[in-house]
Amino acid sequence: MGKKSTHKFKAEISQLLDILVHSLYTNKEIFLRELVSNASDALEKYRFKSSSSENGGEDLPLEIRISADKDAGTLTITDTGIGMTADEVMANIGTIAHSGTAELTRLAQEGKESLDALIGRFGVGFYSAYMVADEVAVTTRSMDRDAKPVRWVSDGRTDYDLQELDEDLPRGTRIEVRLKEDLKDQFTNTAHLKSVINRHSNFVNFPIFVEEERVNTVPALWREPKFQIKPEQYAEFYKFLTFDGEDPFETIHTSVDAPVQFNALLFVPRKSTDFMTSMNRDNWGLDLYARRVLIQHQNKELLPEYLSFVKGVVDIEDLPLNISRETLQDNVVMRKVASTLTKHVLSHLEKLAKDNADRYAEFWKEHGTLFKAGYMDFIHKDRYAELVRFNSSASDDAEALSSLADYVSRAKEGQKEIYYAYGASREALALNPHLEIFRRKGIEVLYLYEPIDEFAMDTIREFKEFKLVAAEHADPAKLDEFETLEKKDDVEDLSSDDASVLDKLLGRIKDVLGGAVSEVKASKRLSDSPVCLSNPDGHVTSSMDKIMRAMSKDTSIPVKVLEVNPDHALVRNMIDIFKRDENDPFIEQAAQQLYESALLLEGYLSDPHALVGRIQSLLTQSSGWYVKGK
Ligand code: ADP
Repeated sequence: MGKKSTHKFKAEISQLLDILVHSLYTNKEIFLRELVSNASDALEKYRFKSSSSENGGEDLPLEIRISADKDAGTLTITDTGIGMTADEVMANIGTIAHSGTAELTRLAQEGKESLDALIGRFGVGFYSAYMVADEVAVTTRSMDRDAKPVRWVSDGRTDYDLQELDEDLPRGTRIEVRLKEDLKDQFTNTAHLKSVINRHSNFVNFPIFVEEERVNTVPALWREPKFQIKPEQYAEFYKFLTFDGEDPFETIHTSVDAPVQFNALLFVPRKSTDFMTSMNRDNWGLDLYARRVLIQHQNKELLPEYLSFVKGVVDIEDLPLNISRETLQDNVVMRKVASTLTKHVLSHLEKLAKDNADRYAEFWKEHGTLFKAGYMDFIHKDRYAELVRFNSSASDDAEALSSLADYVSRAKEGQKEIYYAYGASREALALNPHLEIFRRKGIEVLYLYEPIDEFAMDTIREFKEFKLVAAEHADPAKLDEFETLEKKDDVEDLSSDDASVLDKLLGRIKDVLGGAVSEVKASKRLSDSPVCLSNPDGHVTSSMDKIMRAMSKDTSIPVKVLEVNPDHALVRNMIDIFKRDENDPFIEQAAQQLYESALLLEGYLSDPHALVGRIQSLLTQSSGWYVKGK
């Protein structure tokens, strides 16, 4: 046996160990992830060195073995990696190796944050073993054949013992963890150990055995060359990752070398999860790996939220294992990866839309609602505008989808605007008086069924020289210049006498309604409806207005313009009645009724009592005429 010597830990390590030994951190299992990562790094280093020059000699399989001794209460992690010489042990395990550890110690000393939170945020490497151990022993033999094996032992308090061993040992490192009394059962239970390995270290590049069983059986498919991977393998991996029973809808496998080296394997699921409605809105994000070791589950910095239907894995070469969540958030490497990934996903969707519109429509039906939130991504505004889809008046099919480009390709000669209207359904839009002129002229209108659509339109604003305009804001005079395809029912033009009566009638209606409307005027846009409400210039659409009022808890009714259709039979009758007696009470009743019906259609009428009472009295009158007429 070589000489045994005792060494004091460097001050900062003592402090760190003190923190770890006394921590009540609940997620103690991460120590296994740290030790397995170290073992994997050591194997990687060995493989690199042995391939370049010196050879460790022995033909040992490159692997990691974990075994537990229930009676002794110990856990042992063995690797056949590069190992360490005595000097290396002193240098590596006697000082703080990585910046995260130093920072953790510093923050812990400042005492501003709880230890639990700190340990959760930082990987703490080798020393994390002291969260579960009374004592840790490291026995290691370097691949350098001249070096003797060494044994390092410490209870993690103030010092450690170091001893050179005379016996020969196989290359590599064995870490023996003597578990704390209350953790013995948990961490000598092989089923538990396997599940911990599966959770954190599933894709480590070397076989991991717990007792005799290989635990990490699914390969890190994202790191393999694309051309070697069969669709079934992707599907299998996807199911393993997401617990989805179905195959993925789309698979996006990318390997990028610059500006940052990373591999990503992303999937678009066939069905959208209940993300939008679910209680747990945080249930999304990609799994972030650094060289096959899981850094963070459901990372939300790698893709914007509107692409959160995408599932998958991103593995970055140059990311330290112990990087903290905060550091991740403003990390340059992460930002570069995120920007590249977003572009890749958008390109993939663009290609799908171009090559297979039907399939893209399937995608849109599942994930479109979520995707639409992307109107806030100003960087990719143009690409976003190409990818959004809407139902449209151009097709009778309620399921048919149009892109803005489709719309433009169908636009009339001289048309400079893309029109859209929001409504609860196709049926509701079919009855929207504002759309009557569009039907008459055969001008296409995109149908918006979700409030977010209007925000999207507002933000897109323009598409290929076309302005996006809400149908209710379109200038009827401009629309009137297009050829009429669907004539109004045969109505004679108003005589010039009647035209001046109409003017007076409109004045009378305005008197009746008072300040409830800003103006009463003859309309160009209507054909089937007697009246509609339109916005004074510069106003937002009714649907948008309602959202804004709801947000500011404003329950007042907006003051709008009442447009009257001079060719409607009811209005013609009103002209006749007005000619006979300007003070006929029917005029006032009809004015109120028409105004409130229009309010009802726009969704502003909150109290229908007056309206219903008036309908009943009008019905009573007209039924009386029926009876007399018979
Ligand atoms: P980190 O792994 O982040 O560098 P650790 O505290 O976990 O920090 O480990 C410190 C160093 O100890 C490692 O960088 C490595 O050089 C060495 N080391 C740890 N475990 C092993 C091992 N199983 N085999 C060889 N070297 C190891």
